[in-house]
Amino acid sequence: MMSPTPPSPPQPPSEGRDERSFERRSLIPPIFQTASFTFGSAAELAAFHGGQEDGAFFYGRYGNPTQAAAEARLSRLEGAEASLLFASGMAAVSSVFLAFLAPEARLLLLGESYRHTRDVTEKLLARYGVRCALAECDDPEALDKAAEGGVRLLFAEVPSNPTLRVPDIARLAEWTRARGARLVVDSTIASPALLRPLAHGADLAVHSATKYLSGHNDVLAGAVSGPQGLVDALREHQALLGGILAPQSAFLLDRGMKTLALRVERQSATALSLAEFLAGCPPVTRVHYPGLPSHPDHATARRLMPAFGGLLSFELKGGPAAADRLVDAIRVAVLAPGFGGTESQVEHHARMAYADLGLEGAQARGVAPGLIRYSVGLEDFEVLRDDLRDALKKI
Ligand SMILES: *Cc1c(COP(=O)(O)O)cnc(C)c1O
Repeated sequence: MMSPTPPSPPQPPSEGRDERSFERRSLIPPIFQTASFTFGSAAELAAFHGGQEDGAFFYGRYGNPTQAAAEARLSRLEGAEASLLFASGMAAVSSVFLAFLAPEARLLLLGESYRHTRDVTEKLLARYGVRCALAECDDPEALDKAAEGGVRLLFAEVPSNPTLRVPDIARLAEWTRARGARLVVDSTIASPALLRPLAHGADLAVHSATKYLSGHNDVLAGAVSGPQGLVDALREHQALLGGILAPQSAFLLDRGMKTLALRVERQSATALSLAEFLAGCPPVTRVHYPGLPSHPDHATARRLMPAFGGLLSFELKGGPAAADRLVDAIRVAVLAPGFGGTESQVEHHARMAYADLGLEGAQARGVAPGLIRYSVGLEDFEVLRDDLRDALKKI
């Protein structure tokens, strides 16, 4: 005989609406891991839509308290009215382009740039009829020529990747204002610990918050800071494009930003000592670091920044083959893409970031074959110096 089906266990009573409200006196902004926010009544919902509920949230794509806490901290760091976080640096960069450009509008990229920023202009924006042009970093005439027929947006990396050029932001701001255009500065490499582009006249400051802002190689994030009106316009676009930062990532970013000043101060000090050491090493033909008097923008960098950041690059007598041997011989810094974290990272830049184009393709983009990019972490200077000295002996 078959046994009867056991009765299903009693279900716990479901929580009522009033139990689903979480108020705690947390010291740290909690991770609001929720897609939606609730309303106590139809009247509350109507008040929210009527704009009478300050600080209320609706649906995660339009904002989340963890994200808002990190945005407020970034705004304080940048000296900005408002900030908006994104799922990655590229989400921030591409959203700025999509929000402020249109068919026929011209975008100017200044000097060398992060590879994928340039790829967005050539592979995506060109398809939508945006006119994109490049201009040399230190040639005002080339800038004027590239802007003939009008310009909507000038996008500059300060300092730039990978040779750390530092154009004068105030001069660029004046140039864009005179043409009714906007200046957007990607200051990922400096971080607001060293440079606040808005204070020098930039309209927007953009970051890959994956790098120094979060600082621990454990989160992808992007950010834009600027006046409330421009950030509001970006927020409207974000609700449509959907590239929001997840609550967990916003929490990690917020925590990282608390130690930004300490990390960058230490990384800058170590990087300057390493740059000076490398400049005296016979196998090294050239060191790119704005803290060295030999850098073409040393004077501008000294005016704009209290220190010169944790990223440097250098070239070797032995060219690309020596660069390949060097990244193998280094024992402390890891061979990995990216920069700005607590762990030192090294790469033969063309091999890491332009593998699909090859060394010649990288050179056509202005990246010297054999260029080593080194991101200084929080290890002791002596440890990193000895590691480099030993590795340079082996190439
Ligand atoms: C890394 C980087 C980006 C892109 O950021 P992701 O967070 O990797 O999407 C943009 N600009 C600069 C200068 C960068 O270094």
